[in-house]
Amino acid sequence: MTSSLPALSARRKRLVPALLASAMLTLGCGASPTPLAPNQFGSVGAPHHGVLTHSAELPVRGKGFRRFRPRSPVYHGLPRLVKAVEEAAADVKETFPQSSPLVIGDLSAKTGGKIPRHNSHRSGRDVDLLFYVTSPSGIPRTNPGFYSIRADGFVRFPDKSYGLLDLPRNWHLIQTLLQDPSIDVQFMFMSRNIEARIIEYALAKEDDLNLIWRAQTVMFQPGDSLPHADHIHLRIACTPLESIHGCLGGGPRWSWYPPLPRLDLDSPLQLSELIGSSDPLPPPLKLAKQ
Ligand SMILES: [Zn+2]
Repeated sequence: MTSSLPALSARRKRLVPALLASAMLTLGCGASPTPLAPNQFGSVGAPHHGVLTHSAELPVRGKGFRRFRPRSPVYHGLPRLVKAVEEAAADVKETFPQSSPLVIGDLSAKTGGKIPRHNSHRSGRDVDLLFYVTSPSGIPRTNPGFYSIRADGFVRFPDKSYGLLDLPRNWHLIQTLLQDPSIDVQFMFMSRNIEARIIEYALAKEDDLNLIWRAQTVMFQPGDSLPHADHIHLRIACTPLESIHGCLGGGPRWSWYPPLPRLDLDSPLQLSELIGSSDPLPPPLKLAKQ
């Protein structure tokens, strides 16, 4: 915006304080739904400091997936995240009919907030996906748990058997999630060694270099926690509408995301939506002359 505040029209001068007040109400101090902020719902706040309303629960099992902790209460997330993970797992199963299921770790609690084992996972935008593995001879096997995969792709399980990182199925899962229009993947946290193996595989097998670049862009070894050699931690970005309703941060908006809509300060309807009122803004009060 190039115009300074004094240069705004009288109408805009009236609307700007309303916008700032509503933005504070929407994004500010509380970051949790209250009767004073009825427009905050869904994923509210940041992944490390947030809550969740209107969540969906991942079923105990479905086509191509199952929960790692069947009776755990922390399998709730934004409905579009839960749906995207279910559909991606089903897609892998259709593509690789002999596939063992994707094993899914924690999402969030039904109403969000702090859960055991995690600093994030508080606002319904995070989910842990165990890597697909095979036997050393390439036969798919269900990943038994969170066991670190070594730089050479092998993993030793507690029963002393060995597994091998399954590159075709993991790449299929990753590229399916990246291309799902209902989610914007913000991060796929995993160790550098596993990222290198998966990207090397993709460069050999995948024609779409832009897709590989996007995958490499969202893959990160986190600096503030374990290196994630045992699972993918998937985080999705807020949609613009979710941002209006209190969804915050958690990472960048990558360049391939759809552009943010422009906010029209002359539109009482848009401001009413921002404030959460179904009524257009009332006309400004006229002060009597002294
Ligand atoms: Zn995680």
